Amino acid sequence: MAAGSAQVGVLAIQGAVDKHLAMLEQLDVAARRVLRKEDLDGLDGLIIPGGESTTISKGLDRLGLCEPIRAFGRAGGAILGTCAGAILLARECENHPVPTLQLLDVRALRNAYGTQVDSFVAPADAGDEGGLSGMRCVFIRAPQIVDPGPGVEVLLRVDGLPVLVRQGRVLASTFHPELAGDPRVHALLLGL
Ligand code: GLN
Repeated sequence: MAAGSAQVGVLAIQGAVDKHLAMLEQLDVAARRVLRKEDLDGLDGLIIPGGESTTISKGLDRLGLCEPIRAFGRAGGAILGTCAGAILLARECENHPVPTLQLLDVRALRNAYGTQVDSFVAPADAGDEGGLSGMRCVFIRAPQIVDPGPGVEVLLRVDGLPVLVRQGRVLASTFHPELAGDPRVHALLLGL
C-alpha cells in the first residue's frame, strides 16, 4: 500500500476516531469513516481505534460489521487495532470478555495495568530492529497481549511486554500511536 494512493478507513463506532483521521491526513492518505459494510469497499486498510471495547463490540454486532471486517482481513486488507481495537482483534479476551473478531492469534487482558488513573506514557524498550526505536507509548486503561501464537511477531515491547505485534497484515498496539504525534505505526500500516 503506497501512501499516495492508499484508502484507509477508520471504524467510527466510538473512541479516538478523529485523532486517527488527523494522523492519516498528516500522512496524505485518503481516509473515511466506516459505519456500514459498504464503507469497506475499495479500502486498502482499516483502523479499529481505541476506546471502549464493550461499546465497540456491541456496535459491530448492531451494525452487522463483524463478518464484513473478518472477510476484509481474510482477503488481505491491512488492519491496525489500537488498544480497544487490539482487544477486538484478539482470538479471545479476558477480564470482562467481549466477542472478538479473532483475526490475531493472541489473548488480550483488558485493563491489565489498572484503571484510568493508572494510565501512563513510557518509552519502548531499546533493541527493536524495525525503525521504531525511541517510540513514546501512551497507555490509557490499556490491555496486555499475552500468549502470542507462532505466526505473531512482536515489534515493540515496554518493560519486556509486547505492545505492538503483527500477524501478516494485522497490526495491533496496546498503546495509542495516534496521540503521541509520531506517525511511524500508521506508516507501518501503509507499508503493509
Ligand atoms: N480499557 C478499554 C477496554 O477494555 C480500552 C482502553 C482504550 O482503548 N484506551 O475496552
